Amino acid sequence: KSVVAIVGRPNVGKSTIFNRLVGERISIVEDIPGITRDRIYAEGEWLTSTFNIIDTGGIEIGDEPLLLKMRQQAEVAIDEADVIIFLVNGREGITAADEEVAKLLFKSNKPVVLAVNKIDNPEMREKIYEFYSLGFGEPYPISGTHGLGLGDLLDAVVDLFPEQESAEAEEDTIYFSLIGRPNVGKSSLVNAILNEERVIVSEIEGTTRDAIDTKLRKDKQDYVIIDTAGMRKRGKVYETTEKYSVLRALKAIERSDVVLVLIDAETGIREQDKKIAGYAHDAGRAIVIVVNKWDTVVANEKAMKEFETKIRAHFQFLDYAPIVFLSAKTKKRLHTLLPAIDLASENHAKRVPTNVLNDVIMDALAMNPTPTIKGRRLKILYTTQVAAKPPSFVVFVNDPELMHFSYKRFLENKIRDAFGFVGTPIKIFARKR
Ligand code: GDP
Repeated sequence: KSVVAIVGRPNVGKSTIFNRLVGERISIVEDIPGITRDRIYAEGEWLTSTFNIIDTGGIEIGDEPLLLKMRQQAEVAIDEADVIIFLVNGREGITAADEEVAKLLFKSNKPVVLAVNKIDNPEMREKIYEFYSLGFGEPYPISGTHGLGLGDLLDAVVDLFPEQESAEAEEDTIYFSLIGRPNVGKSSLVNAILNEERVIVSEIEGTTRDAIDTKLRKDKQDYVIIDTAGMRKRGKVYETTEKYSVLRALKAIERSDVVLVLIDAETGIREQDKKIAGYAHDAGRAIVIVVNKWDTVVANEKAMKEFETKIRAHFQFLDYAPIVFLSAKTKKRLHTLLPAIDLASENHAKRVPTNVLNDVIMDALAMNPTPTIKGRRLKILYTTQVAAKPPSFVVFVNDPELMHFSYKRFLENKIRDAFGFVGTPIKIFARKR
């Protein structure tokens, strides 16, 4: 998928434009209580293209002086994006800061579309002409607050997308990535897996700009590890910021079937772990929770139960994810990891027979009758699986409005129990018949 970044000095309206371009998509993501999300990276859609957008303004880089901050945000965009939207403020004209950003973008040779924001009515259109002098060709007048001009802007952006390199995902190969905060042991675990007995590492190749893919094979199963942690380009300041590592994690999640959410047994669960795990859940990937550094605690059955209780309380939305305890350092219990990945992946791709599915729903209805809202009862007519990865179901009903959240949850649990969807989220949609 192509990546678009929005760049510009502060207060030109980057976040407003970002929210405009992704707004609808974001609102369909179900809200999980207790997770705050940083809206710096999201999927956008225009005509037949879907792409990812980065709001570089959301990547806060400490208490740097303004100019340095802008420089770093521009660098992120230049490194990560296929097309850059350079945003300026039509009400203020060109400022020295705009020229600074222009200089950086100019040197980068990345395709840039210049957008002049805050052109809220046609009379203001003439204000765009001075921006020709920035040297990025035709300026596109837009209004973030009124949602004007975005179509033309997106046409120009989409035209500049590169031909998609078709890095064909191989069927039957399980793609997985490791996410977690710095020092949780991601690199150590990758190395431990690669050095495990009977694992054949066939090939190491740089496939994308952002990740090193490593192919491995064990017991006739092929895997690809998408390793973003291993390829940090050391030295750049922004690489150490939390939001930047989130960005990297998101890109890895996107290409994964299974995401390993790493937690540090030694330091326990932190807010950041929850946030990162929330992204994987939202993306609908299979998930295995890995408690690393299990060598550092008094590891017995009781400790494991206690840690598990803690995890379940913190990650209620991941109640389907199996938990693996291991040590990347001593390799203790490492052999339990690949089987957990296999199971999660298998369930993630699973399709269930329609007749059995409808029997399960009938049983559920018998056990817990459908709710009534304002005197009208929900009627469930028919259920069918419409997709896998993750398994997604459409329930045809008399009126989707009558499908209360808690009843949907009840059906989800019934389906989950009946088919054993360990390790994968499942989605249920109510549609009018
Ligand atoms: P990353 O930033 O997530 O890639 O973490 P690293 O793999 O670089 O590991 C961070 C630190 O934790 C290093 O000092 C590792 O030696 C240490 N570490 C990693 N895994 C384990 C483990 O299972 N047990 C212990 N005791 N230390 C570990």
